[in-house]
Amino acid sequence: MHVMAKPSGSTCNIDCKYCFFLSKEALYPDSKHRMSDATMEAYIRQLIESHRTPTITIAWQGGEPTLLGLDFFRRAVAVADQYCPSNQTLEHTFQTNGVALDDEWCMFFKEKKFLVGISIDGPQPLHDVNRVLRNGKGSFDLVMKGLDALHRAGVEYNILCTVHRANQDHGREVYRFFRDQLNATFIQFIPIIERATEQTIQIANKGWGESNRDKRVFYSQVGSLVTERSVTPAGYGSFLIDIFEEWVRHDVGRVFVQLFDISLEAHYGRHLLCIHSPTCGQGLALEHNGDLYSCDHFVEPSYLLGNIHLTHMLSLAASVQQRKFGQDKRDLLTSQCQSCTVRNFCHGGCPKDRFMQSDDREPGHNYLCEGFYAFFKHVQPTMEAMLKLLNEGSPPAMVMTQMRSLDAQRDPYSGCPCGSGKKFKFCHGARKSSTLS
Ligand code: SF4
Ligand code: SF4
Repeated sequence: MHVMAKPSGSTCNIDCKYCFFLSKEALYPDSKHRMSDATMEAYIRQLIESHRTPTITIAWQGGEPTLLGLDFFRRAVAVADQYCPSNQTLEHTFQTNGVALDDEWCMFFKEKKFLVGISIDGPQPLHDVNRVLRNGKGSFDLVMKGLDALHRAGVEYNILCTVHRANQDHGREVYRFFRDQLNATFIQFIPIIERATEQTIQIANKGWGESNRDKRVFYSQVGSLVTERSVTPAGYGSFLIDIFEEWVRHDVGRVFVQLFDISLEAHYGRHLLCIHSPTCGQGLALEHNGDLYSCDHFVEPSYLLGNIHLTHMLSLAASVQQRKFGQDKRDLLTSQCQSCTVRNFCHGGCPKDRFMQSDDREPGHNYLCEGFYAFFKHVQPTMEAMLKLLNEGSPPAMVMTQMRSLDAQRDPYSGCPCGSGKKFKFCHGARKSSTLS
């Protein structure tokens, strides 16, 4: 199992418009939303006791974990070292918006070998649409300062980029910015889907930040409407395909995009990401006070498993309630998913997004289906070519050579295979691959 600890609960030092987690503050109205040392110690000790694996991941995320201050994490690492058996190794991960990172934080991350995830939505105009400070201004400059500090200290990091209405049509531009301007080699894309009902849609469209604090509602996974910031199903698919077509010509084996990796692994029957696994339920969320929830996306009362100060987290993770939560992902698949030709790669996506009707009007179908289908169908031939290379003992990066020879045979004025409607020569067939092209 994997536990994401939220030491500052859902509280944050910035005010991203799409971050409905900010509304979860209402779950603990009288709390300061800061994890005590007693809860930190219980989390780490129980997590280590729950694992027989060679490596144990201690994960911190938010809200914004830097709000706890560096000394909290110095103590946490000391506690973890104290409890870790000599035959097991610890891996520390830390997800941050980056605005508070400085040399002191980053030297600590480097020394303790943290893997840091930093949230960036693309170049400044795209990032600043939603990722704003409390004063309403974009957070881009501060995030770049934080990223510079990570670079200076040589910290291992990956970029977490959300995909939403503002950047969904700029896949290549976003990707090239990460690759060429930020020298990123590990990138993860997360679709933004904010659900709402007829009653909540107007308030939800205004955002979840402090500026809307008095009016905002508590976010829960209900409703079949989505906010105007949410990515569209087709937009998500075309965003991924746009990036894939760039990656497969220039960056295989050099830049690692999580969804591309997991698509390849799925051909071996290995499912590394809960969203595209047959079942889920192994990724739990720990609130600042020790409350353990079924998943970070279901921090709401009906998915509360218990508190780790009262019941060991292993018992909570193995409870009937949690097992059912995970198995429902497979058991509640619509008929359309069950007979889908890309089911083995998609597995119906995340249950939180299953609020639409399937083509035959069955409820509980994934909102992103159209995008998933387009993406998995599109990448299949290339994935199979990479698989063949791997089975022959050749590096999968050789697929780029195959792609080049295929491209050489293409009519440059034919439609680009990415489906943009542009001519190949002026789309993915353009000679130069750079952010400036
Ligand atoms: S509900 Fe979604 S995000 Fe949560 S564990 Fe399941 S697939 Fe993963
Ligand atoms: S692509 Fe659509 S129909 Fe196919 S498994 Fe995924 S969600 Fe289901």
